[in-house]
Amino acid sequence: AVRVRFAPSPTGFLHLGGLRTALYNYIFAKKHQGSFILRLEDTDQTRLVPGAAENIEDMLEWAGVNGTYRVGWYDNRCRNLSSVQVAQKLATDPKPAVRFRLEGETPAFQDLVYGWNRHEVASVEGDPVILKSDGFPTYHLACVVDDHHMGISHVLRGSEWLVSTSKHLLLYQALGWRPPHFAHLPLLLNRDGSKLSKRQGDIFLEHFAAAGFLPDALLDIITNCGSGFAENQMGRTLPELITQFDLTRITCHSALLDLEKLPEFNRLHLRRLVSEETQRRQLVGKLQVLVEEAFGSQLQDRHVLDPAYVERIILLRQHHISRLQDLVSPAHSYLWTRPAVGRAQLGAISEKVDVIAERVLGLLEGSDTSLTQDVLNRELKKLSESLEGIKHSHMMKLLRVALSGQLQGPPVAEMMVSLGPKEVRQRIQKVLS
Ligand code: GLU
Repeated sequence: AVRVRFAPSPTGFLHLGGLRTALYNYIFAKKHQGSFILRLEDTDQTRLVPGAAENIEDMLEWAGVNGTYRVGWYDNRCRNLSSVQVAQKLATDPKPAVRFRLEGETPAFQDLVYGWNRHEVASVEGDPVILKSDGFPTYHLACVVDDHHMGISHVLRGSEWLVSTSKHLLLYQALGWRPPHFAHLPLLLNRDGSKLSKRQGDIFLEHFAAAGFLPDALLDIITNCGSGFAENQMGRTLPELITQFDLTRITCHSALLDLEKLPEFNRLHLRRLVSEETQRRQLVGKLQVLVEEAFGSQLQDRHVLDPAYVERIILLRQHHISRLQDLVSPAHSYLWTRPAVGRAQLGAISEKVDVIAERVLGLLEGSDTSLTQDVLNRELKKLSESLEGIKHSHMMKLLRVALSGQLQGPPVAEMMVSLGPKEVRQRIQKVLS
């Protein structure tokens, strides 16, 4: 049975590179009805970062990459690898480090991505420490012992571990254990080929979660770089990633990540959620919270928090935003608060402010529900034609500013439909007073 693990060291928060390794393990496990294990490798006690272990777990859960998951803290079981010599040494030096004698020919192995590999580690690096004087194993030993005892069938990890695999194979040999299969994943790099640095704050998952990006959009973009799938397509969901994933299609070319495309990916996934009723209801709840956070005390009218109003806004604006957060940006503030618009500002657009306002009010009279964008566009066109000396474009600009306080934004008719006739009337009446 397939049994894989994602084995981060809790020496930092989860970033995109880590998510990608976790995701490939996860979809490989799911595809083969296997299990996926999260194993926190806390072998280097000096580099532990407080909160990192929790962050890794939380962020994987946020991303939905958690399925059957189990946390395996390393439990010092390697200390029990005793031998006569070890016992003798212990008598004189209670804190020895143990090294692994690298000898003999390094076995060649067939990596499922990189093909045949063999690295002459013995002659190059000297014998590595496997058990440190603080009693903790180093990564190499912990990894081999844990992979064996956890019954790991396939190790899918970053290609930076390719050379270490030769060392690990010697350890397997020495311990008399059968090694798992290995598949090393090519590096995830920035679009320009530069390293995806962990120091750039914006590659941490937390950053993306806080900025309102959807987990699905992140999973989609980090697998979209082409590797592991027959087709290079956008918009795949996690279940689709699982069914379409094919380990044999992972190439050894580095995967280039173009984060500038993330908003586009997000828009796609957002629209999919909007189209599903239960998901849409959740989005409504989220947007209500965002509105409350952004405008709380300025909300003149609590009706803007009505689910029906919030839902209408989402439906009308879904093609023009990439994140739900965009709907509380300054450009959209008119949806939630009334703009402060001065008479002079409107007068500068057209001298006929009052005539226009009165006629538009007349147009809206008695029409509480039935105004669609098409009808409004037609009626507004007719209206400006009937008004002597008033240009349609000036009238529309005036309405735009009166309704939103802004010179740019969605079509005026859309704004009117969003706000609803009652609110539109209020805002226009304010112009007259
Ligand atoms: N703890 C190692 C890391 O942080 C895991 C490498 C492996 O998957 O074997 O990348």
